[in-house]
Amino acid sequence: MTTFKDLGLSPDIQQALDELGYEDPTPIQEQAIPALLGGHDVIGQAQTGTGKTAAFGLPLLQYLDPANEEVQAIVMTPTRELCIQVTQALRTYAEHLDIEIVAVFGGAPIRSQQSQLRSGAHVVVATVGRMMDLMSRRSLVLTSARYVVLDEADEMLDLGFIEDVEKILRMCPSGRQTALFSATMPPPIQKLAEGYMYDPTTISITPKTLTVDAISQAFVEVPAKEKAARLIELLKTEEPEQAIIFTRTKIGASKLERLLKDKGLDVKALHGDLSQGVRDGVMIAFKDHRVRLLVATDIAARGLDIEHVTHVINYDVPNSSETYVHRIGRTGRVGRTGRAITFVTPDQRDEIGRIERDVKTSIGEWETPEERLEHAPPPRRRERSERRREVEKVEQAAPVAPVETSGNGAVAETDVDADAEVEIEVEAPGAEDGPKRDTVKLFVNRGERSGIEEEDLRWALREGAVLPEEAIHDVRVLHRFSFVEVAPDQAERAVEFLDGTKLKGKEIRLEIAKS
Ligand code: AMP
Repeated sequence: MTTFKDLGLSPDIQQALDELGYEDPTPIQEQAIPALLGGHDVIGQAQTGTGKTAAFGLPLLQYLDPANEEVQAIVMTPTRELCIQVTQALRTYAEHLDIEIVAVFGGAPIRSQQSQLRSGAHVVVATVGRMMDLMSRRSLVLTSARYVVLDEADEMLDLGFIEDVEKILRMCPSGRQTALFSATMPPPIQKLAEGYMYDPTTISITPKTLTVDAISQAFVEVPAKEKAARLIELLKTEEPEQAIIFTRTKIGASKLERLLKDKGLDVKALHGDLSQGVRDGVMIAFKDHRVRLLVATDIAARGLDIEHVTHVINYDVPNSSETYVHRIGRTGRVGRTGRAITFVTPDQRDEIGRIERDVKTSIGEWETPEERLEHAPPPRRRERSERRREVEKVEQAAPVAPVETSGNGAVAETDVDADAEVEIEVEAPGAEDGPKRDTVKLFVNRGERSGIEEEDLRWALREGAVLPEEAIHDVRVLHRFSFVEVAPDQAERAVEFLDGTKLKGKEIRLEIAKS
């Protein structure tokens, strides 16, 4: 397994990643970072949610010379939202570097952006239109911009910016390094790459390696005219902490927003008919958790990194499998778990099969939480006893090094195969005789060594399994594994929702601990 250290990143950057809790590089980072650090041009075919910002951003920061006050790197983005998001990400990665990153985008006063540029910027993150504007006013000079990134190039194409992008590329030095990231590679983008990049390394991250595995998916078959009522019912049952509800059209989005609002729900719409200012306001409110439900169209939500979304609801079935992956990627982001529910009318039922085949995933019919529990297969117990048998075999075969002691149960680990995460629980004497607890103890196969902290487990139980706060009792993180205690009636639910999902990028196994 490659680590950030293996990728050749500087200690200052590694420290920032540590502080952010990034443990291992994502596949796009693993491949793009060494190529970019090696000075190559890179084409990254990857969508939001894959960690692409760090993939181009970390080598960019490492490339900069803080002592040189010229603009040494630029990142072009199609939208203002993405521009702000990339800037924020770069600033967190540059936490321990003496680097100025300035964001310039349309819809905001140009004067203050000009004055920020005058004060010095090593990196400029910009929307295409505003960058052209600032260049024509001579407030931005690109003669030293030797590291150039095009983020979401296909979106720039859709929005009609490609000619301007070419103009900007022509203003940058010819010996520059160029990185182009795009979810899709339509012919005009390929042509752009051929014309403006030098022998690029192409890295393609297919939707399969997106985080759909960490997302529990379901569909609801419902006649068109009953959709709204079913949605309201479903929201009541699922109780999402925050959800994005996708509609196909702008009109559909504003209609649904009105309808939900009339039902007293906390909802806002995000679509292309709203002014930029309103869109920004909605985004900020949603990110700050001041709004619970967001009704959005694909274009408006594209590329947005919204964390902690517990649910994505496809109110209108997406028009392609790619859009499906893109939409549901808003939940279950790196290291998070989430739920995606897709509405289909009876004549759209085949769409589900198509998505399942394309994305190589399984989408079952939606069930209420009670039904889910009822239908949850009991194999975990069997797995556990099988695992225990294996563990016992290992125990007989190899010396056991006692490592950790946890509360009332002594816990020992073997060092036979660190990756196999073999743990053996040994009952503490008298544990059975202790006072009857009103909690159930769950065993989690990850601990401090995997960067897991108490708050992460509490977060997973709250957000991933949607347990009420009062049902979560003691959480103890040991070196290689953890124990959590929950209310007895919530234990199965916690296991069902969290076992096999990812936390901080690591698969977690959760099971009811013995006794
Ligand atoms: P992006 O695809 O760049 O929009 O990133 C998606 C999300 O993944 C962001 O919230 C990042 O902070 C997060 N992220 C990126 N790289 C990693 C990593 N190596 N480990 C954990 N989280 C990451």
